[in-house]
Order: sequence, then structure tokens, then C-alpha cells
Amino acid sequence: MSAVEESGLEPVGSVAPVLAASVGHGSQLSYLSRLALAPPHANLLVGPPGSGLDDVARRFIAAVLCPDRGCGHCRTCTRVMSMAHPDVFEVEPEGASILVEQAREIVRRVNVAPIEAGRAVVLIHDIDRLNETAANKLLKTMEEPPPGTVIVGHTSSPQDVLITIRSRCVGSNLAPLTSQEISTALLDDGVDADAVADAVAASGGSLDRARRLAGPYRDLRRLALDLPARLRPYGASAGRLSAEITDAVDAAVDGLGEQHAGQIAKLRTDIEAAGYPPRVAATMERSLENRQKRLVTQARIEALGEVFAGVLASVSNRLANGEISPEIADGWFSSTEQTQRVFTETPSVRTSLMLDAWLLRCPPLG
Ligand SMILES: [Zn+2]
Repeated sequence: MSAVEESGLEPVGSVAPVLAASVGHGSQLSYLSRLALAPPHANLLVGPPGSGLDDVARRFIAAVLCPDRGCGHCRTCTRVMSMAHPDVFEVEPEGASILVEQAREIVRRVNVAPIEAGRAVVLIHDIDRLNETAANKLLKTMEEPPPGTVIVGHTSSPQDVLITIRSRCVGSNLAPLTSQEISTALLDDGVDADAVADAVAASGGSLDRARRLAGPYRDLRRLALDLPARLRPYGASAGRLSAEITDAVDAAVDGLGEQHAGQIAKLRTDIEAAGYPPRVAATMERSLENRQKRLVTQARIEALGEVFAGVLASVSNRLANGEISPEIADGWFSSTEQTQRVFTETPSVRTSLMLDAWLLRCPPLG
């Protein structure tokens, strides 16, 4: 008899269905499934960007709360996965940090009895962004939360998580996803094989990015790859291309609005069916709306990032094929890098002005 069986835990290999449905992370899933049976009060999930941390964290929480060990299809599992469970409180960085007011709200929330499940869960996204004052507010709660409270934090920069927080958590490490795992996930999403190959090649090992490149950012990527060859040596050309990019970015992000409206409508139906008290309902709705707002901002930043990445890839290829001189390539590289820096430092800069200035500084290829 193995040590695992003797300890009364599920044997290795038994994965909660809700966790089994995640992309990749084979060996960690049975560990997380066992952990969910008797969850530690503070957990830290670590994984590289694009490895689906957010998704795995939510699946782990579903396994923790599900009355059927993470079946993947009950009311609890589906609500946790669609961010509509009243006993899961999610916290995300406001701007660059998780602030002290947010930490206070966590402390307040864990002291309120769960509404539906036997446990209450706090999910802290990018827990490395917890600033020191906020972290200090949380230490006591992380050390000894009220009974039945489970805290789950995730991060792609474990070295930036304050040691006082890290030392109070049980850690789980996710490995990067393989190209094969990303390809399979996209094919399962229904993406055609050609688009899968392109998206995986350009994704840098990130499932999220591969999904965007195969989906809403597909046209944007194509536009970016063609852009250097289309720039002509007069100002009107830069202006026209810049307008085209702005439209393509809008189009890429537009789909989110529709998706988000659907999520809100579904949440309202769920809330009504469950008959939650108005205060709980209002908090759930506000939390989903805040998250959606942040996702839209993030999507715009990512969309512009894809434009720059596509242009740099295109120029590099042309340089490698001997189609353009190193001087021309350098002109594109330095102008693009400079523009990206401006954009990172001042994300509020007007996109169209920034793009105009960028393309005016790029040398036409022919
Ligand atoms: Zn379930």
C-alpha cells in the first residue's frame, strides 16, 4: 500500500473532473485535486504568464467548494467558473497594486458567514502586486483565517511576492504549456489547422495569446505583418495606416463588449433564480463589472502590443531574407521600441496620435 493510500487521500492520478478539463498541467492536477479535499487556508499558485493560472485557480476553487469533489457540472462548479458564486470574493490589482482598502475589504469579507457553500474563498489575482501596507493588513487573516475560509493567490512573479505572504502559503507550481498542449486546446476550440499553426508559432508559449491570435486578433496580426510594405514616403500614408490600425484595434476589442453584456445578463438571471439578498447581488454585479472594465483596458493594450509585435516580426523576416537593408530595419526597430516605451509609460496617450508619430518615423521599405 502506498503512502498516499495509507494517509486516506485519493490515490495519485485521481483528478477532479473540473480540474481535468483545464489545458495542460497534467501532474499538478492530481496534486491540486488532493489538496482541494482538505484545502490549506492559504494557497499560492505559481506559473508562467499565459499558462492559464487564472483558469486553474478557479478550477481549484470549484473543487474546494463543490459538494461532489469538483464534478465540473453542478451549480457550484458552473457558478465558480463563470464568476457568479456569492462565496468567492475576487480581488485584482487596481492599477499597479492591490491597495490597503482592498485588503481591508478582504478582512471584512472573510468575517461574514458563507451564503451558500460551507466555505468562503478569497481569490487574489497577481498577489505579487500586494503592496506592503496592504500585505500587513492581511497577515493575521492569512495566518489564521476564520474557520472555513480558504485564500488562493496566484502569480507569475513569485520572487515579487512579499516573503511574509509567501511563507504563510502552501505553494503549487505550474509548468509552462507545451506547443502541443496549446495546439490541442485551439483545435478543441474549433480553430482551423492553418490558423492554429500560425497562432502557436507567434504565441511565445502563452495559451491566452494563442487564443487571441487565432480569434479576435487574427486580422490585426495580418494587418501588422503587411504594414511595413504598405508604408509610402509621404505623410498621408502614415495617417491612413494609423487610422486602419485604430479601426482594427477597435474591432478586435469590440467582441468583448458583447460577451460581457451576455455575462452580466446571465449573472442577473442566476441571482434572481437564487434569490440572493440585494446587497450580495449588488456586490456580485459590481465585482463582475470591475473585472470586465479591466479586461477591456487590458485587451486594448494587448491589441496594440500585437501590432508592434507583428511589425517587428515582419521587419525581422525581411531583414533575414535580405529584402531590406540593416539601416531600414534599424529605423523600424528603434521607432517601434521608442513608441512602445511611450505607450508603457503613458498608457493614457491618445492612440491615434501615438500611431501617427510612430509611422512618420518609420522608413518606407522601397
Ligand atoms: Zn461540482
